[in-house]
Amino acid sequence: MLDVIIIGAGPAGLTAALYACRAGKKTLVIERSTFGGQIVWSPKVENYPALPSVSGLELGDNLTKQAQDAGATLELDEVTAVEKTEDGFRVSSVFGGDFEGRTVIFATGASPRRLGLADEEKYIGAGISFCAVCDGEFYRGKTVGVVGGGNTALQEALYLSDICETVHLIHRREEFRGDAILETSLSRRSNVVFHKNATVSRLTGDPNLTGVTLEKRDGTKEELPLDGLFIAIGHNPENALFKSFTTLDLGGYADIGEACEAGTPGVYIAGDCRTKEVRQLVTAMADGATAALAACHYLDKQG
Ligand code: NAP
Repeated sequence: MLDVIIIGAGPAGLTAALYACRAGKKTLVIERSTFGGQIVWSPKVENYPALPSVSGLELGDNLTKQAQDAGATLELDEVTAVEKTEDGFRVSSVFGGDFEGRTVIFATGASPRRLGLADEEKYIGAGISFCAVCDGEFYRGKTVGVVGGGNTALQEALYLSDICETVHLIHRREEFRGDAILETSLSRRSNVVFHKNATVSRLTGDPNLTGVTLEKRDGTKEELPLDGLFIAIGHNPENALFKSFTTLDLGGYADIGEACEAGTPGVYIAGDCRTKEVRQLVTAMADGATAALAACHYLDKQG
């Protein structure tokens, strides 16, 4: 019987593993695709305190190694179900079968929604980004597009308009879903161009993105040269495995607070898959530490 089973080996899950191991708990981390999580696809991370510039890959590798060195067992496997048992939880997986644990930490993350266009995946890291705070610096003085009409898109556009020459804000409707105050701030900026009632229908450039085709509601098309495109059309939380242990908000995120307690004793939810204001590396890691220490306290109380 394991003390802690962590599902997801991104910054939240690996930090949770580090803390649980250092507290002497027998810990297993199960990850279905990439140890280190989505950050490993970021060419350069410049907002991680105390490391002014580090590649996402190096950061992910270091996190993984640190968790392993602390004693965590890492499995590359896909979890298919988590069930409550008499003494804890049964975590079933595709390859490893069943794992038994006294506590479970879900750190399954959230994936940015895609536009659904041909070659979209190819351009990720080569012109397409999902995070202005992470990647905006690479487009300093350049021309970028932002797709979306929610608060994230409006905030990304504001952030980018401070560092880029021109920001094209592309939204499929006349009205923005995001706060009016953000739209007003954007409309006062001379380097922000609004493209309402427009969608991106094609991505161009080889190997890097150099432009997009905009398709307007009236059927007309426009070729828009761009150095980068920030897609901010929402996220899909990976909630399938934990939704029976907690309540979800309208977006499908675990509707729990900073304590990361799912509402079912022994179950914790950490990182981007829970409701939160700021989804950044450091906040995901903070959740990992919080969830792991909460699991340790729960285990210690059980004796
Ligand atoms: P969101 O509010 O769900 O907005 C997503 C936007 O993307 C919508 O405008 C939507 O268009 C558009 N969209 C969706 N699919 C699309 C597609 N396939 N092609 C083109 N456009 C598409 O997501 P969000 O902006 O990430 O915000 C998520 C939540 O976090 C919201 O509740 C938001 O208010 C909150 N948030 C708050 C803050 C804050 O400072 N308080 C900051 C960021 C986010 P439609 O409008 O046509 O549906």
